[in-house]
Amino acid sequence: MDTNNLKNMLIDANIKPTFQRLKILEYLNLNHTHPTVDEIYINLCPIIPTLSKTTVYNTLKSFVKAKIVDEIKIENTEIRYDIVTDPHGHFKCKKCGTIYNFNFPYNLIDSEELKDFEIDSKNVYLSGTCPKCQEIEI
Ligand SMILES: [Zn+2]
Ligand SMILES: [Zn+2]
Repeated sequence: MDTNNLKNMLIDANIKPTFQRLKILEYLNLNHTHPTVDEIYINLCPIIPTLSKTTVYNTLKSFVKAKIVDEIKIENTEIRYDIVTDPHGHFKCKKCGTIYNFNFPYNLIDSEELKDFEIDSKNVYLSGTCPKCQEIEI
């Protein structure tokens, strides 16, 4: 997605495409690393010296509300942000901390035990060691 597409994404979501908002969305689009507020803030500070952590936080909240970004809580300690809003699973490497996306057929979850439940969110979260970190071990 180029800057123009990102701008339209904001306009379609009824969010005024200010420079700061565009940069935050652009960061998420370029870095599929599921960044935290802190990560985004630290990386954008050199480009936008007037940026505050509160602005980053509030901007992300408005993106989540508009459903253009997903909020993911892999550990209970921190909220991470994901521009990939199609349902997918996450794998976190315990060595390097990278969170990988993988396709997961959520539509195949068809459990008898769940038939009377109303489901709000579906999260598949796996953890272990990624291929890159396994290579280092050898
Ligand atoms: Zn790893
Ligand atoms: Zn993801």
